[in-house]
Amino acid sequence: MIIGGLQRCSFSDYPGRTAAVVFTQGCNFRCPFCHNGPLLAVTGAARYEEREIFDFLKLRRGRLSGVVVSGGEPTEHKDLPQFSARLKALGFKVKLDTNGSRPEMIKLLLKEGLVDYFAMDIKAPLNKYDTLCGVRVDTEAIRQSIALIAAGGVAHHFRTTYVKSLLTESDLLKLGALVPSESKYITQPFVAENAWQAELRGGR
Ligand code: SF4
Repeated sequence: MIIGGLQRCSFSDYPGRTAAVVFTQGCNFRCPFCHNGPLLAVTGAARYEEREIFDFLKLRRGRLSGVVVSGGEPTEHKDLPQFSARLKALGFKVKLDTNGSRPEMIKLLLKEGLVDYFAMDIKAPLNKYDTLCGVRVDTEAIRQSIALIAAGGVAHHFRTTYVKSLLTESDLLKLGALVPSESKYITQPFVAENAWQAELRGGR
């Protein structure tokens, strides 16, 4: 894993748990509203060695009950299953934040029981995915990931960052229709000043 950041304690990133957040380096999307610009470069150097992360977590057992693996896009990393298995071996519950572009990785994590909570972004109605993600997106992969997570028997929610200048009310309705009826769905506020794309900073 290439690790670009660590939040040592969060009360809000893992529902119901006090958790550390590990930010993986590298993302295959370039969402203009992204808040994590420094984490996007796929070839970025690691800021933390895995050893440092695990040394820290071993000292926090009993005080933290979960670890959120976020990014960047964690499923870009082939060794994510091994990383998650090590977290679980230390007794932590694992939450994964994902953009849903790698259903084969989600399927493997579900099969091996390596994630206890999924939070998947649904960025846009499928016809606007390329615009909202800044790259060409295989929307069939997005559909597959939604279906896998919804049927996976694991706690989860889907979420959308609502950027008023990029998504219409009609888009939101189409977007909502992508969410399986049994699944929780939230919209999260867009923080303009942190946007990766300069044109969006100062906007809404
Ligand atoms: S918001 Fe988009 S670009 Fe930023 S980390 Fe998530 S998927 Fe990648």
